Amino acid sequence: MRYAILGDLHSNPTALEAVLAALEDAAVDAILQVGDVVGYGAAPRETIELVRAAGMQVVMGNHDGACTGHVDATTFNDAARLAIRHNVAQLEREDLRWLAALPLVHTTEHCALAHATLARPERFDYIQRPDEADTSFEALDRPVCFLGHTHRPVTLMRLREAPLRTSYTFQEELELGEFDAALVNVGSVGQPRDDDPRAAYALFDSGTARVTLHRVEYDVERESDRILRAGLPKILADRLFLGI
Ligand code: ZN
Repeated sequence: MRYAILGDLHSNPTALEAVLAALEDAAVDAILQVGDVVGYGAAPRETIELVRAAGMQVVMGNHDGACTGHVDATTFNDAARLAIRHNVAQLEREDLRWLAALPLVHTTEHCALAHATLARPERFDYIQRPDEADTSFEALDRPVCFLGHTHRPVTLMRLREAPLRTSYTFQEELELGEFDAALVNVGSVGQPRDDDPRAAYALFDSGTARVTLHRVEYDVERESDRILRAGLPKILADRLFLGI
């Protein structure tokens, strides 16, 4: 089975279309999406439409939850909160129902999928140090779990020879057979924060147990213009050019 795993989309259909175009030659059987379909960007409806048309399996991100009252948006920064208010105003009731019904965890025969952590997905905690991944490794009963949330691609893994110690790598090609288990943060499609503005996604072939991380360029100006025209904070437009 060949999977594509897409990072946080954040109401950026231009970046999503570029990834979907890149996938046309990848012959994938299923597309998984790690959540944060909406938030930050100015085109939530177009983004949800593309996601649903592609038949993706999606888990709930904190921005999706903020739009539906599942997550308290008062903890968000001002720009993020304004974007949530804008996105909710754009969305139809049916879109909000779809967002509200997203599960926190999705599991396939070969992998698990969550937004922030697998251990306590409803808390949307950040994994920024290897030890913060320990509880998610304990909760994992598949060889690999795909995550997003930080918008920075990185793989946390436990090697076969040291299955209780978590280490990490920024490698873009991973052989899962070398690991006892892995948590792969696939980065972000619609708002990367690793100083690389290109949209991020991963491919996973369960037959060869291989994961590869990919980037694709998209028309950033088109989406930043849309953010400015919507009257959203300029920082949300500017950061897309820098990948921050
Ligand atoms: Zn996000």
